[in-house]
Amino acid sequence: MPQAECDVCGGEGCPACEVSLTLSAEGPGTVYSRDLISSDPKIQPADPNIPIVELKKGQKLVLEAIAHMGYGRDSVKWQAGVACGYKNVPVITIENCDACGHCAAECPKGIIRFEESGAKVSSEDVLKCSLCKLCEQVCDIHAINVGFDENAFVFTMESDGSYTAKDLALNAADVIKGKAEELLSILDQF
Ligand SMILES: [Zn+2]
Repeated sequence: MPQAECDVCGGEGCPACEVSLTLSAEGPGTVYSRDLISSDPKIQPADPNIPIVELKKGQKLVLEAIAHMGYGRDSVKWQAGVACGYKNVPVITIENCDACGHCAAECPKGIIRFEESGAKVSSEDVLKCSLCKLCEQVCDIHAINVGFDENAFVFTMESDGSYTAKDLALNAADVIKGKAEELLSILDQF
């Protein structure tokens, strides 16, 4: 649970909302994240191979690190999603094409192919369309139309590696669900 919501300490920090990781190393050699010893076996560094410091002969390092949960809105260190965005699912319709080729030459994504019957976009490639409408603008006979489905989205996200992208999306959905339930319970009081 995030520390700010801890029932035991009220956000000050206690064993219920914190995990201690200790490290004791002696040079020469590089100290890695895997050298941290956690007080809770379930809580481990996301990657064991992160170099922390290089120790020379005779140098020692002893430290205690405290891990606790928080929200990405408070600090980027709790933000597991590093890139995220969405667009509506593009819908491209082509009718009465005279196969002049202008649209294919103009498309910055290169997704318009040519067949004898005219321009074509595969159902897979249409997802790459950025809805720029350059193809529409260069078509003299208005044969190509770029629109989008209002009820369908292409969602793109990247995790920092501490969660899989799937877990990140599922956890985010859980948070949204929790907020909606909280709102409902507040509205129920009126
Ligand atoms: Zn606590």
